[in-house]
Amino acid sequence: VLRRVFECVQGAIRAVALPKNSLLGIGVAHSGVIDTAKGLVLSYPRPGQMAEWKNVPLQSLCEQEFKLPCLLEDSVRTRAVAEQIYGLGRNVDDFLYIGAGMGIGAAIFLAGKLYRGGGGKAGEFGHITVDEDGPLCSCGNNGCLESVASCAAIMQAVRVAMEHGVDSKIRDLAHGDLNQVSIEVIALAAAENDSLAFRVLREAASYMALGLADLVNLLNPRLIIFGGPLFLAAPQLLADPIRGVIRQRSLEKSANDVELLASPLGEEAGALGAARMMAEQALETLYLKAARKPNKG
Ligand SMILES: [Zn+2]
Repeated sequence: VLRRVFECVQGAIRAVALPKNSLLGIGVAHSGVIDTAKGLVLSYPRPGQMAEWKNVPLQSLCEQEFKLPCLLEDSVRTRAVAEQIYGLGRNVDDFLYIGAGMGIGAAIFLAGKLYRGGGGKAGEFGHITVDEDGPLCSCGNNGCLESVASCAAIMQAVRVAMEHGVDSKIRDLAHGDLNQVSIEVIALAAAENDSLAFRVLREAASYMALGLADLVNLLNPRLIIFGGPLFLAAPQLLADPIRGVIRQRSLEKSANDVELLASPLGEEAGALGAARMMAEQALETLYLKAARKPNKG
C-alpha cells in the first residue's frame, strides 16, 4: 500500500515539475489513532481491515523516501484546518469540525487555535460513551459513539437486519449482495422512504446528537461543521434530528449560539489541510534558522 502511495506522490511531484529546492516538505493526513509528535500511526481500528497496521513510523518512512521533512497528522484535523483557512471556519474563532466515516472524530478550535490536549489526543469524539450497555467498540469500551453511529456501525446494522429477512429497497440497490451495502446505497434508499434505511440513519443521528448536545454545553461553539462520507451521503437526514436534539438537550443560550453546517470542501480537504500545516511548520523552521544566524550588520 505504502509503496503505491509513494509512487503516486513521486509521480505528482514529477508532473508539476517544481524547481529544485522549492518543495519544503510533505504533509500526510491519516485516519485512525495518530501520535503526531512521534510521527506514528498507532493503530487503524477498523473492523476486519489492516489489523497489522500498528505503530507504523509513517513520518520517518516518508522522510526516508522523499529526503524531505514530513508531517503526519490526523485526517479529521487536517480537514478541519482546511475548513479554517479555506472553508466555513474562516472568521470563526470557536468551532468544532465533526468528521464521520468508518470512524468518528472531532477537531476543536478554541479562540482561533486548534486544541490538541495535553498529550495531543484531544478530539476523540467517536469514543465518548453514548450507550453504557452498547456494542463493543474497537477501543475495547462498550457503547462508544463510533460503535453505534459510524458508517461501519450503520452498514453492519443494515446487514444484520437483512440477514434476518427484513424487507428493504437496499437489497435491490445492492443487487442482493450484502457486501455491496454502502453508506451511499443506504442514504439513497432512505431518500426513497425505505423504512429500514431511514431508521438506521435516524438512530445514528440521535446518538451523534446526544454527544454533540454535551459538547455544545461544554464548549459553547459558534459553529459545528459536518464532514466526511456519512454527512456527504445524507446531510439533511442527519442535520435535522441533530438540530432538534441540541435544541432539546443543550442549554438555551448555547443552543442559540451555535450554527450547524455541512462542509463545502470536497474529498481533497484532508490533503489541503495537511499541506497547509506542513507549510506553516516549514516557514517556522526557516524563520528560526534565520533568527539564529549571527547578525553581521
Ligand atoms: Zn471506543
